[in-house]
Amino acid sequence: MRLRASRAARAAVLTIATLAVLASAPMVAAHDDSPLKPPPAPPDGAIAIKAGRLLDVRTGQYRRDVYVTIERQHITAIGTSAPAGARLIDLSDKVVLPGIIDVHVHVGDDLFDHSASIRMRVSAAQSALNGAYKVHQYLLRGVTTLRDAGETNVYYPQFALRDSIASGLVEGPRMLCAGMLISMSGGHSDDDTTAVDFGMPKRPNIADTVDELRIAVRRDLKYGADWIKLMASGGIVDLYSDFRAQELSEEQMAAAVELAHRAGRRVMAHAEGATGIRAAVRAGVDSIEHGTMLDEESATMMAAKGTWLVPTLATFQVGIEPGSGYGMDDKMLRKARDILQYQQPAFALALKHHLNIAFGDDDEPDRVAPEFAALVKGGMTPLAAIQAATINGARLLGLETETGAIETGKLADIIAVDGDPLADIGAMKQVEFVMAAGRVVKQSQ
Ligand SMILES: [Zn+2]
Repeated sequence: MRLRASRAARAAVLTIATLAVLASAPMVAAHDDSPLKPPPAPPDGAIAIKAGRLLDVRTGQYRRDVYVTIERQHITAIGTSAPAGARLIDLSDKVVLPGIIDVHVHVGDDLFDHSASIRMRVSAAQSALNGAYKVHQYLLRGVTTLRDAGETNVYYPQFALRDSIASGLVEGPRMLCAGMLISMSGGHSDDDTTAVDFGMPKRPNIADTVDELRIAVRRDLKYGADWIKLMASGGIVDLYSDFRAQELSEEQMAAAVELAHRAGRRVMAHAEGATGIRAAVRAGVDSIEHGTMLDEESATMMAAKGTWLVPTLATFQVGIEPGSGYGMDDKMLRKARDILQYQQPAFALALKHHLNIAFGDDDEPDRVAPEFAALVKGGMTPLAAIQAATINGARLLGLETETGAIETGKLADIIAVDGDPLADIGAMKQVEFVMAAGRVVKQSQ
């Protein structure tokens, strides 16, 4: 997956370099403030971060007064002194931990309008611009890697954003992306909310047979999806679907898994009701998103297969607060209130069965800190919640050799907070320092 993204990045850089040469010939080379400048690189020379407390996310132990040395994009040493000549960043009054990995984000969604018809009124261009704003906000909150969990716009604004971040045109967390939200007709991501006599042509994310599903998956793969996103059950933010009911068939989902895995990509399934969860797990998906009605049988199946769960708790708890202010229809608000009763028993089962859990907020940058709080309120230790958002997220995304922990050889994705997050997870609200792949992107005074 990373290889594919970096190939795209290289292609983008080449294109920019070629344009720069063409634009400047036969005159002088493009000047410094030209928009055609190459992507920003981390500064030359070593940086040493002095960490008052450095969290080892594998053990939950703090190391005190250690120096993390960074050269270019990577961590090159962790020890009791800084190399001579290194630029010092003093975080001796802070807790230093790995950058957050948020594996369930929809970058293109409108921040303030969650109405049923909004998806028919937002262009791919607007969606990409929504995303450019959001990814920067995620970065400032300490998210250095994110997975886009699929977009409603079928022209893939998220891929453009991912590739623009990789090439340095846009500042944001590194991204892996699902493609379209693949749904049955009338399902959770059928965005045609018009009356039957006004109906739109069938959208490419709608798949009612196994063959239609294969076509949708192949379209996603062709244009650059890292992940395939399937709607295994109904959901909340739509007018028609029943969150208890299974939507795509097990045969359809198995076909998606076969095609995606053959192409070296992974599959995530939105699943609330237990029948949808079970069908998706049997079909072999890699992660279940939400799992809000997980029961004993589905939890047992997930534990046996090692299927990941991304619980997205906070969005169900606080996401409806703005309610009609965000244009949510009464039907959606009723569903949102109704499903909440199932969430805590399901999450308790997930913990009891020791499922693999990764962190996802499913909503907006301001839901990152509430999601940490919700995971802990739901029964996770603060360390487990932080692990979900670091080493676990890295494993789910296949990036465990590159990020998710502050270790020699890994990318320098490093954040710092005031206060002790192992004692009070609320500390994750105050991210005071963010370094992404060796570049300092936030440093409060
Ligand atoms: Zn989602």
